Amino acid sequence: MEEIKKALVTGGAGFLGSHLCKRLLADGYEVTALDNLFTGTKENIYELLDDKRFSFVLHDVTQPFWGQFDEIYNLACPASPIHYQKNPVETTKSSMLGTMNMLELALKTKARMIHTSTSEIYGDPLVHPQIEEYWGNVNTIGLRSCYDEGKRVAETLCADYRRQYGVDVRMVRIFNTYGPKMHPKDGRVISNFIMQALANRDITLFGNGSQTRSFQYCDDLIEAIRRYMDLSEKKIASFFGGKEIDGRVTPAVPVINTGNPGEYTIKQLAEEILRQLPESKSKIVYRPLPSDDPKRRKPDITLAKALLGWEPKVPLAEGIAKTIEYFRSRR
Ligand code: NAD
Ligand code: UDP
Repeated sequence: MEEIKKALVTGGAGFLGSHLCKRLLADGYEVTALDNLFTGTKENIYELLDDKRFSFVLHDVTQPFWGQFDEIYNLACPASPIHYQKNPVETTKSSMLGTMNMLELALKTKARMIHTSTSEIYGDPLVHPQIEEYWGNVNTIGLRSCYDEGKRVAETLCADYRRQYGVDVRMVRIFNTYGPKMHPKDGRVISNFIMQALANRDITLFGNGSQTRSFQYCDDLIEAIRRYMDLSEKKIASFFGGKEIDGRVTPAVPVINTGNPGEYTIKQLAEEILRQLPESKSKIVYRPLPSDDPKRRKPDITLAKALLGWEPKVPLAEGIAKTIEYFRSRR
């Protein structure tokens, strides 16, 4: 009989972590979700608790954690600017110490690991769209730095644990991802705008709304992460390390962007949400732009496409409709 694979998902009660746990259970895994519930909720994982193969551990990743797993998915870290700026020192610690603790676990137990990095490591990018080779334009001492620099040093740790100790760790730089199970008070733009429109409150557009983002639906991301984890180390070695792929040269260590390259201004996003909720009495109001808010963001996904045979499937309008449905059903 084939042995059941064991997966550890840090940040497993969060928005993306809970989707990943559900997918892993559907794929036949035994799943442990580890979370300190800083921004995650038990509600996100209620539907999984009846499954005997699922367990939840209340734990802070800044403290070491031991257990035998085949695969580690490292997601623990608040991701919304308002939350990660609430306790910036903890944010950097969650990213840096949390990643180091998971790398130690992977090293000692020979587990394979995926680390979730972010488009924020490119900062306010001077290269557009963002390719993996771009080193970024990041403020070290601003309000977003706790997250950006925490995530950057986490990438450095992953690269060095791989080079120095041979840990099989892969990194994915996630561009703005949204969908059901985002917390209604998450504070990120899509949940904010939908919640505001449903409650007939003002839609708070920061700056003049001309800054852009590219929005990926959660299911597309989870598919990419699962395909990435399933690749053999041989396949990873044959792809990364300066190989020429579709006009690009691959990074020294395994790191890929995932996102939906469709690029929208934040004003267009607000208009799309209001278009889908014509009964809403909300008006767009303008608020100051937060400091260091990136002006443009769009992923180049050439490498993810070539490596994973993957590309995002869910267009913005469809993903927004599903997300509106979720928030409506929760009210
Ligand atoms: P989220 O805030 O919903 O999830 C993060 C989870 O980590 C929460 O459940 C939170 O309680 C948990 N957590 C935070 N600090 C912890 C700690 N010290 N110990 C244990 N658990 C802790 O956000 P999300 O959107 O699901 O993000 C998940 C991961 O994906 C994060 O690492 C984030 O940086 C990354 N990411 C997300 C996006 C996106 O657009 N959603 C974009 C880029 C990167
Ligand atoms: N934003 C906005 N109104 C809000 C929340 C966010 O206009 O209520 C803007 C924000 O300034 C940024 C974009 O939407 O330009 C995306 O913000 P989010 O916090 O979702 O993610 P990030 O800035 O980390 O990409």
